[in-house]
This record gives sequence, structure tokens and C-alpha cells, in this order.
Amino acid sequence: MNLIFLGPPGAGKGTQSAHVAAKYRLVSLSTGDMLRAAVAAGSELGRTAQAIMQGGGLVPDEVVAGLIGEALRGEEARERGFILDGFPRNLAQARMLEDILREAGVALDLVVELRLADEVLAERIAARNAANPSAQRQDDTPETLRRRIAVYHEETTPLSDFYRDKGLLREVDGALPIGEVSVAIEAALDSFLAGAAA
Ligand code: AMP
Repeated sequence: MNLIFLGPPGAGKGTQSAHVAAKYRLVSLSTGDMLRAAVAAGSELGRTAQAIMQGGGLVPDEVVAGLIGEALRGEEARERGFILDGFPRNLAQARMLEDILREAGVALDLVVELRLADEVLAERIAARNAANPSAQRQDDTPETLRRRIAVYHEETTPLSDFYRDKGLLREVDGALPIGEVSVAIEAALDSFLAGAAA
């Protein structure tokens, strides 16, 4: 099963995709994690990405598509299936992904979108940081967060229509408690799997 997880910053996308990846034994591919690893390693890519990430903007499409293309050419993701967490982030990336998938000979099965109002996002991230200040990400400051949410609205929300038109979109209420969000996501995936097995 090959999935995309869509959702604004703070919607719980990382938590839910990790949970689903473990439960369904999928490979989780997060461009945010890949970029943070590059920053930590101090590579050229990391140096380019760092300032952009701190400002809450998007790293160039070719760069992130290159990271995902490389991962999807690997056997593991193709054999086990995968979750893309944080990619694509705009229509250009969605189109690049179509090319990558065509070349890799794999199809996308579902796109799960976690929906959540902006006010709730800001509250959640503030609560997360208050509960665990040492784990605060450099791009979780109020200013960067505002920018990340704005970028999400401008760049990423058109993907809902893009995937809805293809019949792939499954919307989940991200404001529910974590466990209930997981249940709703699993229901969507299990119904896909039941249809695929029939
Ligand atoms: P995330 O962990 O998905 O919230 O990503 C953290 C930051 O990494 C984002 O705010 C962007 O600066 C960058 N990033 C992650 N994924 C992408 C992507 N697909 N396209 C462009 N930038 C990205």
C-alpha cells in the first residue's frame, strides 16, 4: 500500500504516519526528517536547506523530489509500500511525484488528509513546546509557524482537490483525540485493503 499523508504543521501528521507505518509495516519517508538529517550532517544540501527551513519556507522542489526519487528507487519502499510524510507540498511536486512513480512502476493508493483549523494548530504546537521544551524544533517558533501555516494554505491546500479529483483523497478530522484520529485513518486504509483484496 502506497500512501501520502497531507496536513498542516501541528496536525499530528508525523505521529500518525509513524503509527501507521509501524502497524502496516510501511516505509515512512519524511522529507522534513531527511532535510533535518542533512542539516545535522552539515552537508551542502543541509546548508542550503537550513535557512529556508528556519524561515518556514519551502526548499526547492527539485531538491526534495530528488530525495524522494532516490528513496523510491530503493527496493525496500517498493516491496513494503510507503508513506510519504511532507511530500508533495505543492502542485509542482505532485507532478514530479507522478513522474517518479511512473518510472519506479508503482501506483499511489490513497492520500490521507488531516484537517485542522489554524487556531487549533497554534495551540497544539505551543502545548507541545511547553510540555517538552528540549524537543522544540527550531522552526516551531510562533513567527516561523505562522509562515509555515500560510505556506501550507498557499501551496499545499490545492493538493486536496488534485487528489480528490483522482478519487484518492480520504479526509480525517485531525481535531479528534490522537487515538480516534488513528482509528479513523485505519478505517480508511482497511477499507482500501478490503477492496483491493476482493
Ligand atoms: P516538516 O517536518 O514536514 O514540517 O518539514 C520541515 C521543513 O522542511 C518545512 O517547513 C520546509 O522548510 C522543509 N520541507 C519539508 N518537506 C518539504 C517539501 N516537500 N518541499 C519543500 N520543503 C520541504
